[in-house]
Amino acid sequence: MSDYRFPYKDATFLMNDVLGFDQMCADAGLEDVNAELAEAVLEEAGRLGSEVFAPLNSVGDHEGATLGENGVQETAGFAEAYRQYVDNGWASLAADEQYGGQNMPRMLAAAVVEVWDSSNLGLFLCPLLTTGAVEAINAHGSDELKDTYLPNMVSGEWAGSMCLTEPAAGSDLAAVTSKAVPEGDHYLVTGQKIFITWGDHQMTDNIIHLVLARLPDAPAGVKGISLFLVPKFLLDENGQPGERNDAYCVGIEHKLGIHGSPTCSMSFGDNGGAIGHLVGKPHNGLMAMFTMMNEARQGVGIQALGVSERSYQQSLAYAKERLQGTRSDGSRYPIIEFPDVRRMLMMMKSVTEAMRGMIYIAAAEADRARAATSPEDARRHATRNALYTPVVKGWISEMSQEITSYGIQVHGGMGYVEETGIAQHYRDARILTIYEGTTGIQGLDLAGRKILGDKGAALKGLLDEIQATAEDMSNVESLAGMGASLKQAAQAGEEAMNWLLANAAQDRNAAGGASVNLMMLLGYVCGGWIMGQSALKAVSLLETGAGDEAFLRAKQVTAQFYFDHLLPRSSSCLATLKTGSESMMALDVEQF
Ligand SMILES: Cc1cc2nc3c(=O)[nH]c(=O)nc-3n(C[C@H](O)[C@H](O)[C@H](O)COP(=O)(O)OP(=O)(O)OC[C@H]3O[C@@H](n4cnc5c(N)ncnc54)[C@H](O)[C@@H]3O)c2cc1C
Repeated sequence: MSDYRFPYKDATFLMNDVLGFDQMCADAGLEDVNAELAEAVLEEAGRLGSEVFAPLNSVGDHEGATLGENGVQETAGFAEAYRQYVDNGWASLAADEQYGGQNMPRMLAAAVVEVWDSSNLGLFLCPLLTTGAVEAINAHGSDELKDTYLPNMVSGEWAGSMCLTEPAAGSDLAAVTSKAVPEGDHYLVTGQKIFITWGDHQMTDNIIHLVLARLPDAPAGVKGISLFLVPKFLLDENGQPGERNDAYCVGIEHKLGIHGSPTCSMSFGDNGGAIGHLVGKPHNGLMAMFTMMNEARQGVGIQALGVSERSYQQSLAYAKERLQGTRSDGSRYPIIEFPDVRRMLMMMKSVTEAMRGMIYIAAAEADRARAATSPEDARRHATRNALYTPVVKGWISEMSQEITSYGIQVHGGMGYVEETGIAQHYRDARILTIYEGTTGIQGLDLAGRKILGDKGAALKGLLDEIQATAEDMSNVESLAGMGASLKQAAQAGEEAMNWLLANAAQDRNAAGGASVNLMMLLGYVCGGWIMGQSALKAVSLLETGAGDEAFLRAKQVTAQFYFDHLLPRSSSCLATLKTGSESMMALDVEQF
């Protein structure tokens, strides 16, 4: 057992009361799915997380994985835990029915994944990549590839991996040099990949690598990269893993955190070539891989939420126990009574709740896109979901750095030593702003593809909705002040967008210089939006006497704290980004 508990009240309040889970399921034609079922699912996930996965989190941190003759051996106990996850059907929760999935809403799946990520970030990186691989194969693979590989991947019997990065090709995937040469009905893949998460392990009977490589006639740059499916074990005539393919882990990294997740150097084709199959069209691999990365990027947002929540819970428990104040009668009192410790805990609580809301809002758009009955509706919801992706990945992962750092600070010196375990969350969180596209890359995606790409149309639609919430808040006496702040913050978002649209064409460094501030600004505003919606709902439920009064009052206070301490950061992001790139770029490289 561990002390981790999934925050049911907050999750179900957000899903059901604020975001209308029941209505969303009805609109999507999911008659069998409702709030009651979702609560039962979350309760069972929470039990498994607390009892089975969470106690293994520190084991993964201390023991990590090892590389031996049979490849990578994951942390002891992980395979059995993963087996429970697969046997109980958790892997297939949100996948399409066609390949054995349970077709549950993404919003519910996101809530469930928070449990896994809070419990054991290192272990659950493995299913994150499998889910992304399933999406990419489903969207771009041939029917034959889908029929052959997806059922076992959807069930979790086989895992997936994502093999993009090479020593000279990190953020710049145009530099990929791995090769694929056609041979009969397949390709022979050769090349070195680095930093491949769960690139090898013994938890599943097969691992399906998705590998970026170049065909012999490939044009240079990103337009010459293709995507290949390369199984660890080739399939026999019965579709079962048989002969070993020429794809091996040749080293694992020693790293700051997520020790439970093996980060592998992979060698493809040392013995003649790894047999692979083309996914999608030749030279179109990056586009196919983006399907996987978008899925995985939102997944990283959930990881950031999960690790922040766990850090918060542990810090809260410590702050209630640690005695450092002395009253006039000589009795001692715990550090939670000090305003500055309160400030840190309220930061952790309010940001974590805003992160959760933001993740559900994005997941709901994926659900709406999936359930849409017209191509226009599907496109509209997919566009909104795509707009959210860099904010969910970039803002939430950046905020998780601050939150898990507060976790250490609340513990004082005991936070800096390893035995309390709070440092693990800080170390584990550190990767979240780096993989699946660094924060810099998320900023560029937001500024370039998502804003300049449609001249701000999608963002304008979102900001209008935020303004409407601000208006609703202004009409409620107790929330009027917050409504005015949200209105101002949404205006800051619009001003930032207009600044970008006006300056990007004239100054080639404008977008790159402003993009991360813009992304953070939108994160703070979206966080204010969901906290505002939550406060509105809390007020109306309190008026009708429905719901848990203590929880609803705490929600209102937490929203107020967010508006007092976090939302004002949107103004400073705006002021900074409007200074442009001049002082950033003025020095010659030699002047540094
Ligand atoms: C633990 C771990 C697990 C990983 N798992 C996987 C995996 O499963 N599969 C996989 O393929 N890869 C994986 N990666 C690789 C990861 O995705 C890359 O490390 C990441 O994309 C950054 O690439 P890079 O390390 O080469 O850094 P670089 O690209 O060299 O970046 C260095 C710095 O420059 C900045 N930068 C680079 N280009 C730009 C630009 N155009 N504009 C602005 N700033 C820029 C970056 O933001 C960063 O701050 C993993 C890495 C780690 C450490």
